[in-house]
Amino acid sequence: MKVFKEKKPLKVYISKLKAQNYTVGFVPTMGALHQGHLSLIKKAQKKNDVVVVSIFVNPTQFDNKEDLLKYPKTIENDTKLLNTVSCDVLFYPSVNEIYAEKIVSEKFDFDGLENQMEGKFRDGHFNGVGTIVKTLFEIVEPDKAYFGQKDFQQLQIIKKMVKKHAMNVKVKGCPIFREKDGLAMSSRNTRLSKDHRNAAPFIYKTLQKVRKNFNGENSEDIIAWVENEFKKHPLLKLEYFNIANEKSLKTINHNESNKKYRAFIAVFAGEIRLIDNIKLK
Ligand code: AMP
Repeated sequence: MKVFKEKKPLKVYISKLKAQNYTVGFVPTMGALHQGHLSLIKKAQKKNDVVVVSIFVNPTQFDNKEDLLKYPKTIENDTKLLNTVSCDVLFYPSVNEIYAEKIVSEKFDFDGLENQMEGKFRDGHFNGVGTIVKTLFEIVEPDKAYFGQKDFQQLQIIKKMVKKHAMNVKVKGCPIFREKDGLAMSSRNTRLSKDHRNAAPFIYKTLQKVRKNFNGENSEDIIAWVENEFKKHPLLKLEYFNIANEKSLKTINHNESNKKYRAFIAVFAGEIRLIDNIKLK
């Protein structure tokens, strides 16, 4: 695997590949890699000649300083994992290489997608996400880029950005990869205490019950039921639960036609914030 810490030599390398008509798949990550990340890489490998993975803990998308400071950094293990799946290229830049002196976000208009759910609770988060993904796309110039449905709102926002800015990249969504007990894999899971880790599968179990009981008409009852389930839970604190239109990400509206709904949840397990979602029937 080739490792680049600087953008210029990476750009030179990629332009040589492109001159040979190789297609480039790209998987941006913040590291502390797990099987969920690897599933994106494997999907990218099936459809592209070369796969580039980036590892960059992007400071501008963190609204919580503590979360940024404590974000797990496991570059040695990440490099090993990337080698086990025969990843071609790792881009592992410093904050300075990406932002120079100005660690600030660009401002984006994602047609309101940024104001729902995560956008309501994480101030400036999606401007940070937009800034880093746009920057990385400009450096890597991928043909296709792969994002997990685990961060469904982020996936929709990247699709919107690509469309609005007429960027020449195809954005692909990939299914949520879970632990055996149903907990969505996340780099933050390694920071859970033993008790919180044992409690966390409750999140997906609740989403599965929501999926089973949702009939398109009973969303108020379901929302109240979920809120009550978490009120009773001794270790997990609900931040939000929402049933929203997959496209607009707006809360369910019974008057819509062509409804495709998904349930979204954010939960605190101690200090650790976990998100998950499920497609509804
Ligand atoms: P992160 O390193 O958490 O920023 O994630 C990098 C990419 O991997 C994002 O597109 C995430 O949505 C995706 N991802 C993270 N966890 C999972 C998972 N459990 N299943 C599928 N994709 C994931």
